[in-house]
Amino acid sequence: MRTQMTSDLDLPENISGQNHDLSLIEKYDGFQDLALLEAALNDAAFGAIGAVSSFGADSALLLSMLAEVNASIPVIFLDTGKHFPETTDYVQNVSESLGLENVHYRRPDLAEVNIHDRIGDLLESSVDACCDLRKVRPLEKALRGFDSWITGRKRFHGADRSGLKSVEFTEGRFKINPLAHWSAERIKTEFKARNLPQHPLVAEGFLSIGCAPCTRAVAPGEDVRAGRWADNDKTECGIHNSPWVGESI
Ligand code: SF4
Repeated sequence: MRTQMTSDLDLPENISGQNHDLSLIEKYDGFQDLALLEAALNDAAFGAIGAVSSFGADSALLLSMLAEVNASIPVIFLDTGKHFPETTDYVQNVSESLGLENVHYRRPDLAEVNIHDRIGDLLESSVDACCDLRKVRPLEKALRGFDSWITGRKRFHGADRSGLKSVEFTEGRFKINPLAHWSAERIKTEFKARNLPQHPLVAEGFLSIGCAPCTRAVAPGEDVRAGRWADNDKTECGIHNSPWVGESI
């Protein structure tokens, strides 16, 4: 089936309201990659499941696993308006080459942008406010119809991610982390084995890729996320650690 690239209006609107069974966290502790995806997508206790992808440096691995298990699962891409053009092209190319059937672009609310960032320089006064406007709030809206979401986070990224579990429960939803336990080396090996298309900026030293103004290439030996918000203390955009909705606008 041809890849369907939609904007945001046809995502489900209301969370099912089902009771969340927190025993799933222990039940699937240690499950990984395809085994975790297959188990979660076949376990009704997770409710409606979507995936969120940055279409960054190694995103194609998880996306290829998703395509293998269920190519029609909704995949949400936060189109902040600040991405590298290479990323925008990559979303289209990798979705089509993997056969993903249900990719959704979620953009910031235009009215909010006009109020808070009309000329696009909010990040110069507050990167937290900019991420809140362009990532946190749009994702909160995009996830309203889902009980659980799949993320590509890994423990080896360090900091807040060091203790990631296969399944977490935060802010009323399960997060399913199929690659939480994978090392950088294992990802690289599997990426090659699957002959996956590489984000073009990886060849230029970008090992973690976010918005263009807030991402630089990393030097050999630097932490994989050292190029993200390199000029300040920020390490996460906020979608994984802030209560809905952010307070910073
Ligand atoms: Fe704004 Fe930078 Fe956050 Fe992108 S990463 S939303 S440009 S502050």
